[in-house]
Amino acid sequence: MIATLAARALTQPLAQVADRMVGPRGCLLTFHRAAPPKLWEGLPNRDFYLDIEFIDRFLAHLVAQKWDVVTIGEALRRSGSADDNSRYVNFSIDDCYRDTFELVAPVFRRHNVPLTLFVTTGIPDGTASIWPIGLEYILLERDEILLDGQVVRLSTPEERRAVYQRISSTWDGPHAPQRYAAFCAENRVDINAMHWAHAITWEMLETLAKDPLIEVGAHTVSHARISSLAPDEALAELEGARVRLNQRLGIDVQHFAFPYGRSGDCGPRDFALAREAGFLSAATTRKGLVRSGQDRFSLPRNTINGSHRSVGAMEMHLLGLTGVAARITGRV
Ligand SMILES: [Zn+2]
Repeated sequence: MIATLAARALTQPLAQVADRMVGPRGCLLTFHRAAPPKLWEGLPNRDFYLDIEFIDRFLAHLVAQKWDVVTIGEALRRSGSADDNSRYVNFSIDDCYRDTFELVAPVFRRHNVPLTLFVTTGIPDGTASIWPIGLEYILLERDEILLDGQVVRLSTPEERRAVYQRISSTWDGPHAPQRYAAFCAENRVDINAMHWAHAITWEMLETLAKDPLIEVGAHTVSHARISSLAPDEALAELEGARVRLNQRLGIDVQHFAFPYGRSGDCGPRDFALAREAGFLSAATTRKGLVRSGQDRFSLPRNTINGSHRSVGAMEMHLLGLTGVAARITGRV
């Protein structure tokens, strides 16, 4: 309670000072998944999720503090207008899993604010491996697993988190899907059933695309790291996702977000390719704020980590301080 009051005393005047000093600005925020608090506590990769009750509180805070919650389209319009004087926030979800439809969209609807979805089309098509999710839920649901012929026992959430970290860091890279498939076979997990237990479906996306509060954007076909691809492969990932979404949902997708999104994952060549693929904008996960005159193909976005569950921590993003910190520490 005292900590909350102290945080409030600190952040509220800061926000007011910042309004005078920082001026008009936009803050694009992104996250992947959400979970109810009870499930969140035990998840092996819980930083990947926001507590759904936290999202609810944060949206109420933003509305009360007179932030405008906007689409990417509207953020671009404001950043392109020299006389815009507003403060605005955009929320985007990358990849898109079932909880986007079941948990997150209903909360945004209840607050009557928009939400942007950056869809990896291989997820509803069943062609992209969602190995980090599959690995996580196998660890969550079992008391022991087999890993390369060895039994690994799992009892506490801490143990599951440590094992998740260890396995996911050794798998990470182009061969992760094959290693995950072998792991599923070794542990007799139905890899398809696991996919559909978590993937968003085209039927869910159809419903979401008809909602005036939902803006649908693209996030590649297979969740590829664009900078690692040859130009024609990269263009196929960008264009393929846009065309697939347009055809399947009957919409006109205009915005793109780079998977991973840090400076090593997408650069000037890739920003140019996003334009060539027919998008009006492309977003990174480089921290910072959007201001007047912002380049549309390298939009900064601030990833909300699931462990940051106080509105005070979010103020750091809204003030642009996480971007400043990232530049100082070189995490860009
Ligand atoms: Zn992603």
